[in-house]
Amino acid sequence: SAGGNRYERADPEADARAITRHGLTTALPAALDRGEFFIEYQPLVHLGDGTVHGAEALVRWCHPQHGVLGPDRFIPLAEHTGLIVPLGRWVLEEAVRQARFWTHRHADGGPLRINVNLSPTQLHHPGLVGDITDVLERSGLAPGALCLEVTESALIGAEEDLLKPLRQVAEMGVDIALDDFGTGYSNLANLRRLPVSVLKLDRSFTRGMQQHPADPVDMKIVEGIVSLAHSLELAVTVEGVETAAQAEQLRALGCDTAQGWYYARPGAPDRIHSLLLADAV
Ligand code: C2E
Ligand code: CA
Ligand code: CA
Ligand code: CA
Repeated sequence: SAGGNRYERADPEADARAITRHGLTTALPAALDRGEFFIEYQPLVHLGDGTVHGAEALVRWCHPQHGVLGPDRFIPLAEHTGLIVPLGRWVLEEAVRQARFWTHRHADGGPLRINVNLSPTQLHHPGLVGDITDVLERSGLAPGALCLEVTESALIGAEEDLLKPLRQVAEMGVDIALDDFGTGYSNLANLRRLPVSVLKLDRSFTRGMQQHPADPVDMKIVEGIVSLAHSLELAVTVEGVETAAQAEQLRALGCDTAQGWYYARPGAPDRIHSLLLADAV
């Protein structure tokens, strides 16, 4: 529109981002070899009595130049290149090892859950069931102590061959959670078909509970989801609980477990360990 065959960079920032993206993508495999990834754990708390139910493993990358990078910066890249398969396997192994350690040390020896995120590419990978079986066997962690989180969008319209590995691990006793629930447009009736035992309600719902008074429409929606979930014998976990008022509302609405900054930010294993040994968060 400026006339002539001129080429102009429309968005220098976008270019910079693309360059970083490219750099990060090529650095990923060596980063895994060099052990630059680490895991933070965020507790999951029983809304009823505040006791710790378990923890979710959240991966981070300690990049030599860029510092600590959150998963949103590199998981999509790892997904794209397939590196998510070995990276995801590492996260699973490390988190299960940590959970096994905690289970040993837990005051009353009660079951403690570890939640690990699975990306869609991992679901499609033929080695998934074998990897999970191996990791559980080698660690000695009970399958019932592991919960795999799969996003709702990864399972929307999923064919039976994609669900088969999940069914297999569910039959071993591993829990499957539907992550970010409510952000996709899944047919609620479809839930019956999926081998899931937990719904993780997305943070967008808990946000409405932060206001005083809480948003009545959000309340109704959460109430409806909880009653549907419970009638299908699914447990409900809520994400992103940041205030006491939110926690109280969600407890009153019948949600089972919660996760969020109000209880604890994701942290190093030893910080979580001390929470685990306490009676309640
Ligand atoms: P997610 O599974 O929905 O994880 C919850 C995210 O919410 C985490 O972000 C967590 O730090 C953040 N969060 C927790 N409590 C609060 C709160 O009270 N308020 C707010 N505003 N945020 C809260 P994080 O650690 O940046 O992880 C982002 C996403 O990256 C995760 O979303 C998950 O989808 C993905 N991810 C993390 N680790 C892994 C992994 O090992 N494998 C795969 N495939 N994906 C992972
Ligand atoms: Ca998750
Ligand atoms: Ca989530
Ligand atoms: Ca989320």
